[in-house]
Amino acid sequence: MAGGKTGGRPVEIICPACKCDAILRREAVYDGLRKTGERLFCSACGHEFSNEASIPFKRAAKPRIFTDEDRSERVDVFRNDERGRNCRHCAHYTVNPFTQRCGLTWRIVEATDTCEKFEPRPTDGDKRGKKETNGASSGDGHPDR
Ligand SMILES: [Zn+2]
Repeated sequence: MAGGKTGGRPVEIICPACKCDAILRREAVYDGLRKTGERLFCSACGHEFSNEASIPFKRAAKPRIFTDEDRSERVDVFRNDERGRNCRHCAHYTVNPFTQRCGLTWRIVEATDTCEKFEPRPTDGDKRGKKETNGASSGDGHPDR
């Protein structure tokens, strides 16, 4: 047992015999005083695996650590979502004669801006169906009849 031993941690498996989450049990096989091999068992039902390659380790089912690939996928998902998060649909969106501001940070925003503090405005637009983007910025102090 000098060197070469790969830790004594329990190894999780999903046993094909009993379909349980189980622990792989290793049992050393000795020929006299010499260790000649290992037998591998399911801790739940005692099913014996013929070799290590045939063991259904649970490792694959573990939640993965985020990689850069995952992150870029996440951004894409977020982007799709952003379409519904424009400032013009936000409860904090405030239209003044000259500017459009965020009522929360009081920063000047565009109607098409997106914001992480977005809150959907209740009953937005449906009441009158008017367009609120046109009015504010394109000088409409002239009732044109
Ligand atoms: Zn089993």
